[in-house]
Amino acid sequence: MTATAEFDSHLYETALAQLDRVAGRLSLEVDIHERLRYPRRALVVSIPVRMDSGRTEVFVGYRVHHNTVLGPTKGGLRYDTGVNLGEVTALAMLMSWKCALMGLPYGGAKGGVRCDPRKLSANERENLTRRYTTEIILLIGPDLDIPAPDLGTDEQTMAWMMDTYSMTQGKSVPGVVTGKPLIIGGSVGRREATGRGIVYVLYQAARQLGQDLKGRRVVIQGFGNVGAVAARLLWREGCLIVGISDVKGGIWNDAGLDIRQLETHVAETGSVVGFPGTTEISNAELIEQPCDVLIPAAVGSQIREDNASRVKASIVAEGANGPTTPEADVILRERGVTVIPDILANAGGVVVSYFEWVQGLQYFFWRESEITARLQEIMTKAFNRVSAIASKEGTDLRTAALMEGIRRVAEGYRVRGLYP
Ligand code: NAD
Repeated sequence: MTATAEFDSHLYETALAQLDRVAGRLSLEVDIHERLRYPRRALVVSIPVRMDSGRTEVFVGYRVHHNTVLGPTKGGLRYDTGVNLGEVTALAMLMSWKCALMGLPYGGAKGGVRCDPRKLSANERENLTRRYTTEIILLIGPDLDIPAPDLGTDEQTMAWMMDTYSMTQGKSVPGVVTGKPLIIGGSVGRREATGRGIVYVLYQAARQLGQDLKGRRVVIQGFGNVGAVAARLLWREGCLIVGISDVKGGIWNDAGLDIRQLETHVAETGSVVGFPGTTEISNAELIEQPCDVLIPAAVGSQIREDNASRVKASIVAEGANGPTTPEADVILRERGVTVIPDILANAGGVVVSYFEWVQGLQYFFWRESEITARLQEIMTKAFNRVSAIASKEGTDLRTAALMEGIRRVAEGYRVRGLYP
């Protein structure tokens, strides 16, 4: 089977190759396998935005639903210069496997706008978000498709989306997005959820290797929602965070960084770079530094064929989506590096998004301790299930996680049948 030209992109090719490999292992029926290779629907929109200069600039945006077999679709919205239809479609597919793996009643979706959010003013970002929401309004809704923040978007973006959608309905609809501010129906613990989930799976992985997380040397690429929270929680657990980076570059301190002070520095300067007492290091060098745990938590394709053999960590926990290319995956596996795959390691975000959605539908809000306890239970169970499948099947954790996610979606197709 070949990929369709519409969705042509490196990430989509990778997602299809993963699906095809796992479909073979699961002995999936050819018809179901074929249906899984395509998104259910994909919308391309143009977004005219009035810029601060008075000019109108047009951006291109996408929203893709991979499948709706297990429930409404769920997935992030990213603002990035690399966004294209193929990438968004691949990420929607990965969301399907992730939601199914975590036992959530969702299909996968993803959205994106090709832009550089750092070059837009707050006013321009608001105009862009509101017009994008209006353009995709037929595809979203609390029982249809529920966006969340991703690369380059945040709580404020979700507040604008929720407000725009609500205005068209003549009432407040908190369940249309997750990852929104607390005051309008967000959930406690959502902001920390992805980083926290990473810590829970790392805890399990270290335990299996007979290690204690405390005292481990950790390197993190990306200091945004995912990377900064993972850094803070692991630092509190007693890990030594020796290297961190963001889009402007990286910093290193062999004796470990003080994450609270680093957060203050980033709040004041906008970057980790220049943090006193550290040496500068590039993003490329950071990946190859000696450490126990490496957490890529920024963008895709950071561990590749050309640097995978120099990764020194014994555990790689994928905070970002698709940070390891398939070629690098093979190299890491051969070298005995434990890779906790994205659809498992960063699933804490969508799990607490699910909690937020349920709370929003019921207008009944939970305590943070309830959220954290349920998240820990779900992450731990998922890790152990994936790990058991990996042992039984003699595979790595990524293959095992994909097998479990894809198997569940396929089972949904099987029992629902094909309409008409
Ligand atoms: P974010 O925008 O909050 O932070 C991204 C961080 O990465 C920033 O520090 C930024 O400076 C840095 N960065 C951007 N481009 C970079 C580059 N080319 N090289 C090095 N650093 C770079 O985004 P986020 O929400 O933290 O998401 C990070 C990754 O995690 C993305 O791949 C996203 O898809 C994935 N993810 C996020 C969530 C979530 O809940 N936010 C959930 C699952 C997966």
